[in-house]
Amino acid sequence: MTAPYNFSAGPAMLPRAVLERAQEELRSWRGSGISVMEISHRDPAFVQMALKAEQDLRDLMTIPDHYQVLFMHGGGRGQFSAVPQNIAGANDTVDYLNSGVWSEFAIREAQKFVSKVNVVGGAVNTEQGRAIAAAEDWQLSADAAYFHYCPNETVDGVALHEIPAQVTAPVVADMSSNILSEPLNVERYALIYAGAQKNIGPSGFAIAIVRDDLLGRAQGTTSTIMDYTVQAKDKSMYNTPNTWAWYLSGLVFEWLKEQGGVAVMGQVNARKAQLLYNYIDSSDFYSNPVHPDYRSKMNVPFLLADPQRDDDFLKAAEQQGLLGLKGHRFVGGMRASIYNAMPIEGVIALVDFMREFEQKHT
Ligand code: PMP
Repeated sequence: MTAPYNFSAGPAMLPRAVLERAQEELRSWRGSGISVMEISHRDPAFVQMALKAEQDLRDLMTIPDHYQVLFMHGGGRGQFSAVPQNIAGANDTVDYLNSGVWSEFAIREAQKFVSKVNVVGGAVNTEQGRAIAAAEDWQLSADAAYFHYCPNETVDGVALHEIPAQVTAPVVADMSSNILSEPLNVERYALIYAGAQKNIGPSGFAIAIVRDDLLGRAQGTTSTIMDYTVQAKDKSMYNTPNTWAWYLSGLVFEWLKEQGGVAVMGQVNARKAQLLYNYIDSSDFYSNPVHPDYRSKMNVPFLLADPQRDDDFLKAAEQQGLLGLKGHRFVGGMRASIYNAMPIEGVIALVDFMREFEQKHT
């Protein structure tokens, strides 16, 4: 594959093969003469496609039968409010790790639905860069209804690679920016959720993988479309689902299977991240602000030693077909998001460009 390469954090690059297939099928899905967007979600062909998408996701992530796979509305933030309403009582205590921007938003949302939101600890600055406080120092509650964290902070580029053994409450993870990026032991989690627009499909859509014992606990005021128990009972079709997003996500799951699944993705993603970090670390012109033990393999923020060159950098990158590199508005600088759909050639092209830009300006 050649440029353009899209490094946007989300909505993000989709596999080209998936877009080509969607284009081919757009006006006549499975020879029907109409688009998949124009048929009923109750149509047997659609239901079959929807079930296959679920099964493919189950296969890819090795999701055991005692977990429900739900296709939800409202993206990642929708789940920020769905989680506390569904699996905690209004007077319960819940634990949250605050490792960055998205954790913080999740905490603020939880505070609306649960009276005791305990922040156990969070991001710290060290001499080697931004990190997460050691688990020994976390203030975990003895009676938390759940422990919530974001394993991959999309804006900060900070990742927590392991769940510390100290965490004994049911674990809830916001995997919006790292789902399907490497093998995972689903059974270590009570609930995994992800907004779709990075490693799965279109925005506004979300996946929730919910262990059966968490069902039936929703607060009485929970809106019905956000109620996991209702959505589980109705196979995520309580109301009209986002049929286009479901279809496209299904194509991405098929593509992932063809690539060899998450084991292969994990190896490729590790190589991509290593290429980029190695180059950044070898240069005085660029830097990454994150401690090496906490670096994200999906979102690589980097700064130019002279921020006055940022605009020139972005403009020149765009001219080479390297798109979406501007850092999040909260933190500035640059950010390369290198999700599953980004081929290694894209990362090589980025590193080559960064080297040339450095040579030209030193
Ligand atoms: N969590 C994480 C980790 C994210 O990166 C994002 C979006 N960038 C969200 C939640 C929010 O997702 P949405 O915009 O779909 O609500």
